[in-house]
Amino acid sequence: MRGLMQDWPMLVHRFIDHAARNHKGAEVVSRTIEGGVHRTGYGQIQTRAKALARALKRKGIRPGDRIATLAWNTHRHLECWYGIAGMGAVYHTLNPRLHADQIAWIANHGGARALFYDNCFAPIVEAIAPKLKHVEFFVALGDEVSPIKTGKKVLPYEKLIAGKGNFNWEALDENSACGLCYTSGTTGDPKGVLYSQRSNVLTALIAGQSSSLHMGPRDRMMPAVPMFHANGWAIPYLAPMTGASLVLPGAKLDGASLYEMLEAEGVTITAGVPTVWLNLLQHMDQNRLKLSHLKRVCIGGAAVPRAMVERFEDDYGVEVTHAWGMTEMSPIGARSSIKPPLDKLSRERQLDFKVKQGFPHFGVEMKITDDKGKERPHDGKSFGRLKVKGPNVARAYFKGMGKEAFEKDGWFDTGDVATMDTHSFMQITDRSKDVIKSGGEWISTIQIENLAMGHPAVAEAAAIGIAHPKWDERPLLIVVLKPGATADKEMLLAHLAGKVAKWWLPDAVAFVDEIPHTATGKIRKTELRRRFADFKFTA
Ligand code: ADP
Repeated sequence: MRGLMQDWPMLVHRFIDHAARNHKGAEVVSRTIEGGVHRTGYGQIQTRAKALARALKRKGIRPGDRIATLAWNTHRHLECWYGIAGMGAVYHTLNPRLHADQIAWIANHGGARALFYDNCFAPIVEAIAPKLKHVEFFVALGDEVSPIKTGKKVLPYEKLIAGKGNFNWEALDENSACGLCYTSGTTGDPKGVLYSQRSNVLTALIAGQSSSLHMGPRDRMMPAVPMFHANGWAIPYLAPMTGASLVLPGAKLDGASLYEMLEAEGVTITAGVPTVWLNLLQHMDQNRLKLSHLKRVCIGGAAVPRAMVERFEDDYGVEVTHAWGMTEMSPIGARSSIKPPLDKLSRERQLDFKVKQGFPHFGVEMKITDDKGKERPHDGKSFGRLKVKGPNVARAYFKGMGKEAFEKDGWFDTGDVATMDTHSFMQITDRSKDVIKSGGEWISTIQIENLAMGHPAVAEAAAIGIAHPKWDERPLLIVVLKPGATADKEMLLAHLAGKVAKWWLPDAVAFVDEIPHTATGKIRKTELRRRFADFKFTA
């Protein structure tokens, strides 16, 4: 017998429709690419997204076509997501921090028929335009449009969406493709993840249930994570779904600019990768600043250092939620928040759990296995390959790349190495490609890095394996000191001693001016391994 409830296809336009109808008081504030602050609301976003959908249809774009965006978080980029997906096409986010050749490769692989760009990316667009095989026209998102040479038509966005008329959102099958986002390529070639309308709706529902990105109409959310990184962490859906206002920081993600937006716009919740918060904390330290409105910060994309949790929570009274996810998971996977019986523990012990990546959200199944696929125990110690399943997890990459990650029985191998404990807290010990193999055993680079970052003189730290004649590999700790601070190898090793097994202690410490980062702000280990390829340990 079938249930007697209504069929309500899960389509993303429902988020903006809901907010336009029920959250008229919510604001969408953007720092524009030109530098000013623009204010609007969900009703206007909906109207303009419909105008864009209408214009795309007029230009011959059909459901399933990919439309690329090369843009920061602004109201126009938000309109693009809803307008493109609402007429059945697929928004295809490009990461402007990648090399131009890589951006062109991704746009070609994705098959983008048009490219929308922020004016600040005009030089990239000019450079890649001759290589783009499928792009028929470009759309400049700025207030004003400077002429650029692309060999194709360049339309001003405001002109494109001008004119009156309504648009009825396309009546789509909820499993239709909606968004295409490539992984940031931290460990290998970027691979395309093709979200469906349904998976995006479910993701927002799932993220909204959690304490990680949970928000409501009285919140003002500032995503410091760009919309091109891992489905924008679903925040462009979650905010209108919950009625929260959105504060979009545009191109300026440095500590001073973020601080300015947090304070001036009364931001209560924000989200981003650890490097962004390192910069914010440094800016606040240097200028002795306080936070007046911020209540919660969601930190993910890379492991949060314990010292960062302590700084936010103890010095600023801002609650940290540590979240783990992947582009392939839409991207929400797990979050670390204290639940019974852990609430009875001391603060120090609770922090041990906070820095873990946490327990799965509803809708995410997780297991750890050995290389042969046999499950490993959940004792908080046994390492294994982390595998996941669920309605928001990719079942294939776009155009069949990376088939080996998808197992026959539906499990997706994340490429992460993790432990799980009896409270279902998962802890990533490494990416399988970064783990240091010493004497047949594994050393977790993440744990070493996080402990090193707890030393008061250390601004940032990375651990990599260096070939060793006896042990196969041994750890090298690479450190950037805080401005004006001093420390030497002995001081850092003394700080780590007793906190990790003795054989985990790095054999050497290299002091550098800067650690390279990926296009999504993660430590670029591949580059560090290249730079230190000839490094030799001295006895
Ligand atoms: P890429 O794999 O190219 O970096 P993603 O941005 O999708 O692309 O990154 C997903 C990966 O980021 C995860 O597999 C994991 O290794 C890492 N990651 C994400 N969140 C965390 C976290 N909280 N702690 C540690 N690692 C994390």
